[in-house]
Amino acid sequence: MDYKNITVAGSGVLGYQIAFQTAFHGFHVTVYDITDEALEKAKSKFSVLSEAYKKDLNATQQQIDKTAQNLSYISDLAEAVKDADLLIEAVPENPAIKTDFYKKLAEVAPEKTVFATNSSTLLPSQFVEATGRPSKFLALHFANTIWIHNTAEIMGHASTDPKIFNDVVAFAKAIGMLALPLHKEQPGYILNSLLVPLLSAATRLLVTEVADPQTIDKTWMKATGAPAGPFAILDVVGITTAYNIDKIAAEKTQDELKIKTVKYLKENYIDKNKLGISTGEGFYKYPNPAYKDPDFLT
Ligand code: NAD
Repeated sequence: MDYKNITVAGSGVLGYQIAFQTAFHGFHVTVYDITDEALEKAKSKFSVLSEAYKKDLNATQQQIDKTAQNLSYISDLAEAVKDADLLIEAVPENPAIKTDFYKKLAEVAPEKTVFATNSSTLLPSQFVEATGRPSKFLALHFANTIWIHNTAEIMGHASTDPKIFNDVVAFAKAIGMLALPLHKEQPGYILNSLLVPLLSAATRLLVTEVADPQTIDKTWMKATGAPAGPFAILDVVGITTAYNIDKIAAEKTQDELKIKTVKYLKENYIDKNKLGISTGEGFYKYPNPAYKDPDFLT
């Protein structure tokens, strides 16, 4: 892997974190977004992330200064990718926007540029045609708060070149990630393939009145040694996200239990603004949730 210049497209929540993390690890990073306004917004997040890296990773001022030097901001796509070895796409999770972006990118990117999508729910094969370079395209998926939750799931599609795949695994390690290669396309990657069924099984136990959230979490924590149970995790993810996923599933399948779940979450949590950690209360109350109490499992 001899990547030096990385372009990150989309400077929103995840895009800017990816750009900062990559620059922090010594790569030249160009941040691309559609408007100068969006780029100004991204620049204003530099100091927030600097403080977080100092606090959480003991980053030195020298490292932060170097990170700033490694970052540049460009709103012209051709200019932003002209030297890119790798382009990481973090534009909105909308198939039409992504397809349009890849078509425009394919017209201006040099032949050497590898394209990687950070999409959480869409498969790379959906965009292969638009990229015009199947062998040099794959998914590189990060988690929110990348500097602490430093996982990188790497997932090719049927015609991703294995050498490119290995280069991207090496790149992920070079920017401080725990690299997690997937050998085939899988909606939800590894993490959400495990997590979504767990969270929905927990919700089902609650809605069908089998047990209360704390009992369900206690069972999971004690029996598996996990530091948190499914309802504590739902508070972190945000109950709105679970509600939206269930709502889409309920509308699509008309499944009775799903419809009941949506109603339950709406009446007991969404309408009461109990959305999880973000609003100070969800299944637990914050900042001192019961599951963190030393006596919770006794
Ligand atoms: P966001 O809405 O915060 O940011 C999207 C950015 O893309 C904005 O700055 C917007 O101006 C820009 N944009 C819009 N159209 C564009 C275009 N045509 N070209 C370039 N930039 C454009 O979104 P986000 O939460 O950062 O998500 C981005 C991607 O990352 C999505 O695919 C999402 O699934 C994935 N992701 C998000 C998270 C998360 O927790 N937010 C976690 C993992 C992966």
